[in-house]
Amino acid sequence: MYGKMKEFLCNTITEIKEAGLYKEERLIESAQQAAITVKGKEVLNFCANNYLGLSNHPRVIKAAKEMIDRRGYGMSSVRFICGTQDIHKELESAISAYFHTEDTILYAACFDANGGIFEPLLGEEDAIISDSLNHASIIDGVRLCKAKRYRYANADMKDLEKCLQEAQAQRFRIIVTDGVFSMDGNVAPMDKICDLADKYSALVMVDECHSAGVVGKTGHGVNEQFNTYGRIDIVTGTLGKSFGGAIGGFTTGHKEIIELLRQRSRPYLFSNSIPPAVVGASLEVFKILKENDALHEKLVENVTYFRTKMLEAGFDIKPTQSAICAVMLYNAKLSQQYAARLLEEGIYVTGFYYPVVPKDQARIRVQLSAGHDKIHLDKCIDAFIKVGKELAILK
Ligand SMILES: *Cc1c(COP(=O)(O)O)cnc(C)c1O
Repeated sequence: MYGKMKEFLCNTITEIKEAGLYKEERLIESAQQAAITVKGKEVLNFCANNYLGLSNHPRVIKAAKEMIDRRGYGMSSVRFICGTQDIHKELESAISAYFHTEDTILYAACFDANGGIFEPLLGEEDAIISDSLNHASIIDGVRLCKAKRYRYANADMKDLEKCLQEAQAQRFRIIVTDGVFSMDGNVAPMDKICDLADKYSALVMVDECHSAGVVGKTGHGVNEQFNTYGRIDIVTGTLGKSFGGAIGGFTTGHKEIIELLRQRSRPYLFSNSIPPAVVGASLEVFKILKENDALHEKLVENVTYFRTKMLEAGFDIKPTQSAICAVMLYNAKLSQQYAARLLEEGIYVTGFYYPVVPKDQARIRVQLSAGHDKIHLDKCIDAFIKVGKELAILK
């Protein structure tokens, strides 16, 4: 039987390659940090979600090792059978404290948190109103639930209001948005979203994967940036970006919602508990972030410096308020060529083009980190300028 399927798969793979959409994996031969080794050569990494530079932080590594000694390697269970240690509850409390919420539930990933949030809470008499640029995991989670679906144009409050008006017959309505959108780096206008939610009696959910640790005066996410504490009902997030970058996700918010998720959320009930090493390291991450705002301050400094220098050099940059900096090139082929040349210059970035972004909106996405030093930023900016002149993007 496989022979026939094999032929079909080979054809599909060829089609992907011919369309120029085949994704190659580059092998990193070092730890994840600002300077990494690729094919035996040191390059500077500007495409990790390592916003606070914690992925290879000595204290985080030490905490992971110590927790292996204290609580072992694997849990061999889901949470409710025998996969909950004291430290899992400690981490849930630390996350609740960080986000100023009542309770938190851990998942193996934010993909699971988003996959397991809607179905337990909403039925066919309810409505989910989702931003058109929301992450794939939100889209999949919505698909698993029978609620009526509405989609509004990215961060478009007029369109959102229209959807809310159309959804007035439903029992419950929930507005769902990413906090920071990963392609443009723009921040969802949470204050306006909350105002509309009040006006049309809707709940609000935000996915803080790219915003937590980054936006807000001290990096505590969209609630801090927009002072919407108490107005956002559900926050989902990841331990895989700002918070150490290993793996793990969470949903945090009203205690009744979290309580019901522990009873009904399928990725929580039917998937393994996160390992003690990750829990220990994550506890250390939240401890570091509680001590002071140094890492976040450095990130903000880096973002400001990079943006200012790149704008001065004449680059076309999306007006981002996050750690994502989209350098617009518009042409798909050019974005690939540019990224390849930058790698030769020792700068590791990724070109994004259709279908990941709209047609003729190709770009290079630069992600800044507190792990970058000024010398790294200057090297990156210089390389951008050199290649930009070479490819006649800059004069
Ligand atoms: C990265 C990301 C996820 C997935 O998080 P994981 O913990 O890696 O599964 C979900 N939502 C958004 C918006 C993301 O950027």
